Amino acid sequence: MKTRQIIDSYEKHVVPNYTRNDVVIIKGEGSRVRDSEGRTYLDLFPGWGCDGLGHCHPKVVKAVKRQAGRLIHVANNYYNEWQGELARLISANSFGGKCFFCNSGAEAIEGAVKFARIFTRPGRYKVLTMLDSFHGRTLAAITATGQDKYHKGFEPLSPGFAHVPFNDIDAAARAVDGETCAVMLELIQGEGGVNVADESYVAKLRDLCDGRDVLLIFDEVQTGGGRTGEYFAHKLYGVEPDIMTLAKALAGGLAMSAIVARPDIGDAIVPGLHASTFGGNPLACAAAIAVFEAVEEDGLLERTRAAGKHLRDKLRELGRETGLIKEVRGRGLMVGAELTVPGAPIVKTCMENGLLINCTHDTVIRFLPSMTVTESELDEGLAILRDALKTHGGEK
Ligand code: PLP
Repeated sequence: MKTRQIIDSYEKHVVPNYTRNDVVIIKGEGSRVRDSEGRTYLDLFPGWGCDGLGHCHPKVVKAVKRQAGRLIHVANNYYNEWQGELARLISANSFGGKCFFCNSGAEAIEGAVKFARIFTRPGRYKVLTMLDSFHGRTLAAITATGQDKYHKGFEPLSPGFAHVPFNDIDAAARAVDGETCAVMLELIQGEGGVNVADESYVAKLRDLCDGRDVLLIFDEVQTGGGRTGEYFAHKLYGVEPDIMTLAKALAGGLAMSAIVARPDIGDAIVPGLHASTFGGNPLACAAAIAVFEAVEEDGLLERTRAAGKHLRDKLRELGRETGLIKEVRGRGLMVGAELTVPGAPIVKTCMENGLLINCTHDTVIRFLPSMTVTESELDEGLAILRDALKTHGGEK
C-alpha cells in the first residue's frame, strides 16, 4: 500500500485519538527505523519506551520466531513452558516477589490497586499518588494519575485516590490516614517531565508506609527493564517496594506487563480474585526471557550507565552553548532536557531532519534510547537537536 492510502485508511477507520505525524514506519533495526518513502530516522525514543533493546533485537526476534512456531497462546488454567522461568528472573533481579502477568501498564496499575485493597482489607482502600504522576488511561489509572488534564470529561472518577506533591514527605505523611491501603510512586516521573525522586524522600516514604501499615507500590512501568542502568530503578535507591508494576520494555516490544508482589501479598491472590486472558502467554514470556538474556550476555546495564552519562554530559554542554537548556535530568538512558522554549516545534524539526525524540510537559525534551544505542548514534542525534535548537531558539 502507498503512504497516502495507509494514512487515508487511518483517517476513515481508526479513532483519531493520537496526534500522528504523516510518517509510516515500516522497518526497524536497533536505533534506526525506515519509513514507507525510504527515509531513515535515528530513533532515540523507540516505541515510547517499549523497544528497550532497540527495534527487532536479534535475540528477541529469534525467541519469538521459535516460539511462534511452537505455541502462541494457551490459557492460564494450564502451565506454559516460560511463565515460571520469567517470574523467577524478575523476582531474582528485583526484591523476591511473586509475579502476575498482564498486557499493559494501565492493566498492571489496576491490578496493583486491587492487590493492595484485598491484602489490607477491611477498612483500607485509599491510594495516595503524586502530582505530575502518570499511571495510564483506564478509569482507575487516570484517577491515580496526578494530572487534571487526564481527568477532564471522564468524571465521576474512581473513588479512593488522592494526590500530593512529588518529593514532599510531609505532604505524604499528612495525607496517609487509617483508610489508606497504599502509596504509589514513579521513582522517576516519565510523562510528568523526567522528575527524579530524591533518595531521602524514597527512604522516608518506605519508613512512613512501614510505620502506618500501608503498602508501598513502585510504578516501574517506564523505569523497569534496565533503562536506568539497573534492572529496576528501586535498586538505585536500595529501597524495596511491596508491589511493583512493570510493562513497556519488559518483552522487547511485545505487549506484556506484570505486577510483582511481596510473596505474602501475592499468595493472597487466590483463584477468582484476578485474571487476564492474554497475560503471561508463552510468546511474550519467551520474548521477555530473551530480553533478560541479552541484557546479561551483552553487558547492557553497564553500557546503559555509560551511554546515559555521555548523553547527559553532552546535553549540558549543548545547554551552555545555546543557553536554551535549563536543566538536564534522569538516570541511565531515561533522560529529559528542560528547555527555556517550547519543545514541540523542536521535536518536529528534529523528525524532519531524521531524529525521533519526544516532548512532554511543553518544554521537556525526552529521550528513552535503546540500551544498545552507541555513543556515535547519540552524538549524531545531538547534532540534529543542536541545529533544531538554533532554528527555534528565539521562539517563545
Ligand atoms: N505507568 C507509567 C509510569 C507509564 O509511563 C505508563 C505509560 O506511559 C503507564 C503506567 C501506562 O502504561 P500503558 O500505556 O501500557 O497502559
